[in-house]
Amino acid sequence: MSGVTYSIPCPKCGRIHEVTYGTSMICTNRALTVSSLYHGGRPLLEYIIKSKSIRDKTFELLYSGYSLNEGYCYSTYYCSKCKKIFTRFHFSLSNGTDRWEPEYHCWHCKKTLSCIMQKDINDTVLQCKCGFEFKVDLNSCPEPENWS
Ligand SMILES: [Zn+2]
Ligand SMILES: [Zn+2]
Repeated sequence: MSGVTYSIPCPKCGRIHEVTYGTSMICTNRALTVSSLYHGGRPLLEYIIKSKSIRDKTFELLYSGYSLNEGYCYSTYYCSKCKKIFTRFHFSLSNGTDRWEPEYHCWHCKKTLSCIMQKDINDTVLQCKCGFEFKVDLNSCPEPENWS
């Protein structure tokens, strides 16, 4: 249960672009079981999944007998049209025969986002709000923040 956030400054304007990977205390496998869907009166999933339609679908599947597969984590998702990155909770559910994985969409252009794992993120081209385009290089960015 730990994660890392890299803060990558735009080489032109200095605006920070965050690349996040990992899990936190709140998103253990307990967080995605029917018996512990609530935390302080609120569904735990609300903390983890911001999209209401994906959350509703997840609830529906959990109640119908699906369970969380290993390999879940916060991950970086990419819109290849806007060249922007987003942090989303990467996970899948299965019931033994069928498997379901959420599809996240770019809030800007609605295109389906692709999940880019940490080992593949270098050389991904980002477009900053200032219009400048640059490639991600985790090796040359400032010391990342580790969280738990
Ligand atoms: Zn910029
Ligand atoms: Zn987009």
